[in-house]
Amino acid sequence: MGHRGPGNGHRTEQTILVHGGTLWTEDGPRRADVRVTGESIAEIGALTPGRHEEVIDAAGLHVLPGMIDVHVHVGDTIGRCELADTFPTASELAVRTGITTVAGFVTQRSGETLGDAIERCRARARGRTHCDVAFHLTPTVWPWDWAELAGLVSAGFNTFKLYTTYREAGLFTSYERLGIVMERLAPLGARLLVHCEDDATLAAVESSGLDFTDPRTHAMLRPERAEVVAVESVLDLAARTGCGVHVVHVSTADALAHIAAARGRAAVSCETAPHYLRFTDAALAGGHGHRYLCTPPLRSEATRIRLEAAAATGSFELFATDHCAFTRADKDARRDDIRAVPKGLAGIGALIPAMFELLVKRHRRPLGELALRLAANPAKLLGVYPKKGAIAVGSDADLVVVDTDGPPHPVTSTLADSYETYPGRTTTLNVRQVLVRGRLVVEDGALVDRRHPAGRILA
Ligand SMILES: [Zn+2]
Repeated sequence: MGHRGPGNGHRTEQTILVHGGTLWTEDGPRRADVRVTGESIAEIGALTPGRHEEVIDAAGLHVLPGMIDVHVHVGDTIGRCELADTFPTASELAVRTGITTVAGFVTQRSGETLGDAIERCRARARGRTHCDVAFHLTPTVWPWDWAELAGLVSAGFNTFKLYTTYREAGLFTSYERLGIVMERLAPLGARLLVHCEDDATLAAVESSGLDFTDPRTHAMLRPERAEVVAVESVLDLAARTGCGVHVVHVSTADALAHIAAARGRAAVSCETAPHYLRFTDAALAGGHGHRYLCTPPLRSEATRIRLEAAAATGSFELFATDHCAFTRADKDARRDDIRAVPKGLAGIGALIPAMFELLVKRHRRPLGELALRLAANPAKLLGVYPKKGAIAVGSDADLVVVDTDGPPHPVTSTLADSYETYPGRTTTLNVRQVLVRGRLVVEDGALVDRRHPAGRILA
């Protein structure tokens, strides 16, 4: 078992052979070896190790495409709080759990050009990330610079993100403007990610008499129907414009039902986060409820049960974390007023183990579900499939060798000084080796080379 180093022989180009494993793609399992040359997959089949070839012995193990978390908040400031995770910490945990690409957000700030914003965010990741990084763009100056838009898409920015709420943060976009953006994005083949909570529904919630020391009040302020109303409106716009639309962090089964019903008339996909499948508003009760404040909020057990059933039967194209880890100090500082507590949960390190435990162990789904919903479909959303998200000749050699039945170990959602979202949860999924574009970055669950991060910024 393990990993044999290269010999001393002369080599023109470095190759690695992943030998003896079972490959999983969205098409199912296949017993085959994978030869990696440089950054790409060169051959797949029954392959014999070369005399001086570096060999990863995957006998008895499973080989997955490098997985992708399309929704992470890292190395950024949200409100008054600096996020707990930087690219070094978040990307380390990502690769150690089998994630080889993450997608973050470029949110334009006031007084800043979109180009400045892109450069500011790239600088946070450049040379400091162990996995590859993509960015979704959120322009905040209306109207957008439509001439600049086409150039951004041809430069590789395939996804944009807008919000139907957060007026006070300067992020609100009306349905009218969403429709205009969709008309512009559709012919470019770019996709729009939308945070769906109807602002008028939220504004109409009667807040007098509510107890703002009780974290459960946050869920009352952001009711399920706000998500449903916004999703209905966005689906209509998607159908009218033909724009590809992706609904982020779906938290209600009713909104999901509307999305499912619209798939024939609109190019729509959606994600949920593992915390909506594992936790309920019961987590908001008791002394530590403020730690579980996130938006959209955790829902009722009845909703969670429906979401879990939908996840197990393939209703979500993909799963993503909305990783947004705040420091313990920031979570605790104003816990006596839940309106002032920063909303967000750590999750990046829990994505793969939590979905493995839920889909594969609990619901007996094949391991290919992870290849489909955590690699292929996320890569398609980002517009980088099959370069990423696939095990195919010519694809980037992003590969993950796992033992699904290893010793149980704790699920860890962040390496930063932030509250653990999944305390006491364990997984038998053990990550042995991870390649990022042909480079071995993880061996037996640990970083190989901390000082030379291998990640690249995709766009
Ligand atoms: Zn988010």
